[in-house]
Amino acid sequence: MRIAFIGLGNMGAPMARNLLKAGHSLELYDLNQQVLEGLAEKGAKIASSPAAAAALADLIITMLPAAAHVRQAWLGAEGVLAGARSGTLGLDCSTIDPQSIRDVSDAAAKAGVELGDAPVSGGTGGAAAGTLTFMVGGSAKLLEGVRPALADMGRNIVHCGETGTGQIAKLCNNLLLGISMIGVAEAMALGDALGIDTQVLAGIINSSTGRCWSSEVCNPWPGAVETAPASRGYSGGFAGQLMLKDLGLATEAARQAQQPVILGALAHQLYQAMSKRGEGGWTFRRSSKRTLGRSDLSEAVARRAALPRGFAVAPDVLWEAGLPGDALPRV
Ligand code: NAD
Repeated sequence: MRIAFIGLGNMGAPMARNLLKAGHSLELYDLNQQVLEGLAEKGAKIASSPAAAAALADLIITMLPAAAHVRQAWLGAEGVLAGARSGTLGLDCSTIDPQSIRDVSDAAAKAGVELGDAPVSGGTGGAAAGTLTFMVGGSAKLLEGVRPALADMGRNIVHCGETGTGQIAKLCNNLLLGISMIGVAEAMALGDALGIDTQVLAGIINSSTGRCWSSEVCNPWPGAVETAPASRGYSGGFAGQLMLKDLGLATEAARQAQQPVILGALAHQLYQAMSKRGEGGWTFRRSSKRTLGRSDLSEAVARRAALPRGFAVAPDVLWEAGLPGDALPRV
């Protein structure tokens, strides 16, 4: 297949490498020339603009940081739609809000290009290993057209519905993940404060009803799960900054739908506070100020556990993060 691939960053570059390995012919565009050079050595061609990359393609894939970049790459003066032929298929694999992909998809349809969304889960490890999950929004015909290329980059290809539903699936999942990471931190901190060995506690949770991906695979308590990022200095996992972005998208989508997401909004503020302290690049990072081997959130929650009040963990956490309690959404 002739594929135009735009956005060759941490995710896009390994995805493009897998497409090259599978024998596809690739035409690449990125604002950053450096990221293109390694791929050109492996046989990809470098285009001078998104329009030029798209001109001969059967399929155009974009993997960009945010909605503004996606709009620019598709709708800009030298964007994809200025060059793509009618009948070309398109997929945006970036994580953006559902309305933006619907808007760009409508514009693409006017140029005869069928564009769907296919955000991914699996992170950079999954992108390199070719084991990503694609959450595809678009017609069944589009899905069948893009399936061979997706199968060369991922293991699970799920049709979510019409354009935009891939993003909805991604945002709902990450909303839940953001919340469950905090819940596990809170439970682990409480156990530690009350005096149980945290490895024993993690083992109990992971064979009981509290079990979830955050407790079992990515437990935020250092040492609770040896293979989790928390046990290697909070590195090599999904960065807090990316979770902040996804929680922002989810809470904004909820605002537009007038759907309450109370814990999601609170989680968003907690990640915002972490980011403000310069800790967004870490995987659910612990404090640099203290060396107790606990996350800041966990420490704050542990302190809260000693206070015999009702359900009010959030102000303590925000206090810990240096924010006033009234920055909280009212529950
Ligand atoms: P990244 O910042 O590493 O890469 C983005 C690339 O896009 C960069 O190379 C940048 O130069 C390029 N770019 C920016 N604007 C451009 C434009 N107008 N035209 C052409 N190129 C442009 O980002 P990433 O980590 O690869 O993430 C890409 C998307 O995937 C994001 O939407 C992110 O939320 C999502 N995502 C990331 C991960 C992850 O673990 N990194 C996991 C799942 C989903």
